[in-house]
Amino acid sequence: MSEAPSSQPLRAAIIPVTPLQQNCSLIWCTRTMRGAFVDPGGDLPKLKAAAEQMGVTIEKILVTHGHIDHCGSAGILAEELGVPIEGPHEEDLFWIARLHEDGQKYGVPGRPFTPDRWLEDGDQVTLGELTFDVRHCPGHTPAMSFSTTPNRSWRWSATSCSRARSAAGTSPAATRSS
Ligand SMILES: [Zn+2]
Repeated sequence: MSEAPSSQPLRAAIIPVTPLQQNCSLIWCTRTMRGAFVDPGGDLPKLKAAAEQMGVTIEKILVTHGHIDHCGSAGILAEELGVPIEGPHEEDLFWIARLHEDGQKYGVPGRPFTPDRWLEDGDQVTLGELTFDVRHCPGHTPAMSFSTTPNRSWRWSATSCSRARSAAGTSPAATRSS
C-alpha cells in the first residue's frame, strides 16, 4: 500500500551550491506546500528553479551558521523573494560581517545581512504547519545550530541534512562537512 502524499508532513531536497558544493536543503510542508531554503549559500537561479520544479512557495530562509558557502547569498535571495531570514545565532555576526570579502576569496556572491530573527537554543521555527526545535551546537562555528522535528526524525545542522529514522517520501539526503 502506498502512502498518500498528505501522510508525509515534510519533504526535502538537497541542492549542492557554490564552488564548495555545500548542501543547501529545500524543505517543505506537504500540506501547505510552503517551504524554506536552509543555507542558500549561492547559485540562486538553481535554487529558485528547484523550488519551482517542486511546486514549493518559499516562506523563509533558514541559516545554520555564517560561513560564506552557507549564507553568502542569503541576503540577496531574501530580498529577491521578499521573505525573512531566521538564524543563525548572533554569535556568528562576525562571520556574516565578512561575507563580501570571503565571497571574493571563494568566488561566491557574498553580501552581509541582518537576519529578521536570530536563533537561540530552545527557540522554535515554523514552516507551513510544521514546527521545529532549535538547538545551539557551537563547535564548527560559535553559532552552529540545528533544528529537529518534534519526533526527531529529521535534523538540519551546519554540515548536513539527514534523516535519523525513516521518513517516507523524501529525496535522498546527504551529509557533508563544510
Ligand atoms: Zn561552515
